[in-house]
Amino acid sequence: MKSKALRILSLALVLVLGLTLFAGCQEQTDSATGFKAGTYEGSSKGFGGDITAKVTLSATAIDAIEVIADGETPEIGGTAIASLTDEILAKQTTAVEAIAGATVSSVAFIDAVNAALTSAGVDPASLKGTDAADSPKEDKTLDVDVVVIGGGGAGMTAAITAKQAGLNVIIVEKMSMLGGNTVKATGGMNAAETHYQKEQNVSDTVDTFVSDTMTGGYDINNSELVNILAKESSGAIDWLDSIGAPLPKISTSGGATNKRLHAPEDGSAVGPYLLNAFSEQIKALEIPVYFDTKAETILTDDTGAVIGITATGKDGNYTINSKLVILATGGFGSNEEMYTKYKPELKGFVTTNTPGATGDGIVMAEAVGASLVDIEQIQIHPTVEQTTSIMVTESVRGNGAILVNKTGERFIDEMQTRDKVSAAVIAQEEGYAYIIFDQKLREGLGAIESYVKSNIVSQGETIEDLAKAIEVDPATLTATLEAWNKAVADKSDAAFGRTTAMDVPLAQGPYYAIKIAPGVHHTMGGVRINESAQVLNANGDVIPGLLACGEVTGGIHGGNRLGGNAVADIVVFGRIAGKTAAEALK
Ligand code: ADP
Repeated sequence: MKSKALRILSLALVLVLGLTLFAGCQEQTDSATGFKAGTYEGSSKGFGGDITAKVTLSATAIDAIEVIADGETPEIGGTAIASLTDEILAKQTTAVEAIAGATVSSVAFIDAVNAALTSAGVDPASLKGTDAADSPKEDKTLDVDVVVIGGGGAGMTAAITAKQAGLNVIIVEKMSMLGGNTVKATGGMNAAETHYQKEQNVSDTVDTFVSDTMTGGYDINNSELVNILAKESSGAIDWLDSIGAPLPKISTSGGATNKRLHAPEDGSAVGPYLLNAFSEQIKALEIPVYFDTKAETILTDDTGAVIGITATGKDGNYTINSKLVILATGGFGSNEEMYTKYKPELKGFVTTNTPGATGDGIVMAEAVGASLVDIEQIQIHPTVEQTTSIMVTESVRGNGAILVNKTGERFIDEMQTRDKVSAAVIAQEEGYAYIIFDQKLREGLGAIESYVKSNIVSQGETIEDLAKAIEVDPATLTATLEAWNKAVADKSDAAFGRTTAMDVPLAQGPYYAIKIAPGVHHTMGGVRINESAQVLNANGDVIPGLLACGEVTGGIHGGNRLGGNAVADIVVFGRIAGKTAAEALK
């Protein structure tokens, strides 16, 4: 009897305790937001696997979002997710737009956050956000020293340099994230006579860098600009050291006589790596970035001097009065109408470019009298996976990979310049090829992991297995690899005369292949500038107040850009534009 009474009492106590605890939880739910403080998880399918979002709520706000998304390509998906995280936290709603160029990753990420919120008992649709989308548009006027148009590598470098010199600088960026095409730079940055080369006993000279770049560009490059590029490259590497973005790993890139491609130590893709460091600087220096704000026109006074820009933003139109304008809008590789106007044979080619690369800066500059140079010089990159437009970095060949055609045979010195390799791929039966590498090479190059996660890599434990996987004759592929490994051992490629990036054989399984064909990659031509990054008119005179740097400019790369020279271009000439601005406004 007694024990039964005790059992009832304890059951009652458990119930009371349980109800109390339940009531306690209820108490933590904020009546206004419906938020219950805690961390909640939700998942969704992304580009290369599941994206899981861990969302931390306080009683009144979304406090933090942590993402586990190993499968997203860091250069695109990762950057988009970082940008959306900031936006959701700032606006306190998941009613944000997917980032153009990274739609799959964006949508999956937003879904994952919504799933986490739902698991917290919050209806995502109820989050109206702090930034009422229907707030009236307003015209705004800003007054600054310098407005930088475009937040890719060149614009960010220029803005940081100008701000470091004490100028009042802003960036306008038409997309919802920084990065532009720079996000896609995977290989590295060419630089000569750097302290890293000296420390690693790599002999190289500024003169060889100049002559390689001129030869690679068919000598139509502006040699004065090329000289500056090469001469300032070592200082640019030092500057990157100073902002926490060292590039100590050195390898060879196509068309380079010596090892001068500088990359991050851990083999990660150079573009996202630099952009991270630049973003940190932009935050630390408090440089305002106007996202979703598209520059429309460059304003001039009666004398033709540049005095600012107009821009359209989500929240209204801007007139930005500035002492100087730095044009850093990138190229036009995503504007098929524009590139086929200059090079009709590119009709129907895929592009490796991000959606913002539409040539706006070239059109705006022309309207104020800028002259253009080499505008019809458009580079196709030889190794682009065609279903995803993912560009397979030159570093894969630079670290020892070879190309084979559909019969499993090599057909060119893979380290030739991009235009030659592209032409050779197009000349193969059905116009495609496979880039072949082994486990050792995979382990030495971080970029490959993103290709694997994007499902563009075929593999086989043995060469025969790989051959079967890509439907190439196993005996031929085996013979090709044997011949290649002998060439590596002999340091002599009798078949195609390759002399670089043949230090290590392809001999450690598993073996890998990516099917590739060329795609539009870089627009070498653009706005004519002088050595100080000032824009020139048809008479070769400076247009007062207008500077330009990066892919929007022409003349540096001539008829063909060498791999590793785009990053050199943005850092060297971005810094020059920033310094010229500082000098002018001193
Ligand atoms: P670069 O390598 O020369 O820095 P990127 O392609 O990396 O060139 O960056 C150029 C940036 O300029 C991109 O982020 C692109 O979205 C931005 N952009 C292009 N046109 C405009 C415009 N009209 N207004 C604002 N930003 C622009």
